[in-house]
Amino acid sequence: MLENLKKEVCEANKSLPKNGLVVWTSGNVLGREGGSDLVVVKPSGVAFDELTPEKMVVMNLKGEVVEGDLKPSSDAYTGLYVLRNMPWVNSVVHTHSNFATAFAALGKPIPCVLTSMCDLFGMDIPCAPFCRIGDEQIGRAIIEYHKGCQAVLVQNHGVFTIGESVRAALKAAIMCEDAAKTVYIAKTMGEIVPISQKDIEKTHKRYVTEYGQ
Ligand SMILES: [Zn+2]
Repeated sequence: MLENLKKEVCEANKSLPKNGLVVWTSGNVLGREGGSDLVVVKPSGVAFDELTPEKMVVMNLKGEVVEGDLKPSSDAYTGLYVLRNMPWVNSVVHTHSNFATAFAALGKPIPCVLTSMCDLFGMDIPCAPFCRIGDEQIGRAIIEYHKGCQAVLVQNHGVFTIGESVRAALKAAIMCEDAAKTVYIAKTMGEIVPISQKDIEKTHKRYVTEYGQ
C-alpha cells in the first residue's frame, strides 16, 4: 500500500544525512497520504543507508501500525499529534542539525535577518520551551509556538519543520539549517542588521504569491 509515498518518504529520510542535517540514526521524515489518515514513517533505529521503501511503516493517525514489520520511530508520535491537529500539514521533519540546534541549546529564536528567511519563513524561527520526550508535549509546543512559521526549534533539543508536502517540510529543514549557519557566522563577525517588520512581510508576501512557476 502507498507505494509512491513510501518511496518519497524513504528518499526524503535518506536525504537528511546527505544534507548534513543528521548523524547516526537521529532525525526523521514522515508523510501523510493527502486527505487520508494514513502516514508513512521511518522505522526506529535503522541506519539511513539501510532504509528501503519496503522497510517504511504505515500508521494511522491514532498511532496504530497498519503495515510494516519494524517498530516505528519514537518521534512518529510527535508528528502524528501535529497531523491530527493541523489538517493542512502532510509532513513533519525532525533533525538535530548543528547550527539550528545550537540556537535551541541557547533557547533562542533564529532572527529573521536574511531575505531568504523572509521568503520562506516570514518571521524569526521561534524556539519553544524545553519539552519531555515520549509524550505529546513536543507536538503541543509545535502547534502553540509555530505562529505560521514552517520551522520551530524546541529548546535543548532540535528542529521540527512542517509542510503541506514531504518536499516542503524537507526544504524548510534544509533552509532552517542554512539560515542558522549564516546567522551564526554573521554574529561572530559583528552586529547583525535587522530587517524592518514591514520589509519582512513584503518580502514574504512576494515570495509566496509571485515566486516560482
Ligand atoms: Zn530529537
